[in-house]
Amino acid sequence: MRCVYPGSFDPITNGHLDVIHRAASLFEEVIVAVANNDQKQPLFTVEERLALIREVVAPLSNVSFMGFDGLLVNFVRSQNAQVVVRGLRAVSDFEFEFQMGLMNRKLDPKVETIFLMPKEEYSYLSSRIIKEIGRLGGALENFVPAPVVGALQEKLRGGREIK
Ligand code: ADP
Repeated sequence: MRCVYPGSFDPITNGHLDVIHRAASLFEEVIVAVANNDQKQPLFTVEERLALIREVVAPLSNVSFMGFDGLLVNFVRSQNAQVVVRGLRAVSDFEFEFQMGLMNRKLDPKVETIFLMPKEEYSYLSSRIIKEIGRLGGALENFVPAPVVGALQEKLRGGREIK
């Protein structure tokens, strides 16, 4: 069975990677899908986010990655996938994820959403907090894969404001 793990991945963190590993051991194929249409004013372009994901998932032979626009259920159908994987960190994720999952079911009843919990040590990680730590000069090595540390530092060195 093929699943899609959608998100902003701005940038990918160890928490995302933990979920990808879990999904890769459960499903024959995992497609990490980077949303192109979000209103979140991302720090990294979709191409940059995909390049980071490419480096990080290279050892996982059943994981691929691509950008997508528009409705998630349409993308899932276009990839002949049946399942959407989302990560659940804390109760605070629940309400939003519940609403999205039920709406996606309404839009396409054949698409099932499943939730995977990361290791507890990653449950407090988010791309937003990583960018904040980076902006304030904190060490990032324990929270994001090595290529992401470099990419964040490069954005900082470039004098670009981290959102
Ligand atoms: P979105 O903008 O869709 O929330 P994110 O990149 O922030 O995209 O997250 C993508 C998915 O990964 C979401 O299901 C989110 O809950 C999950 N996720 C994010 N960070 C973590 C983490 N540290 N541990 C587990 N799941 C996570």
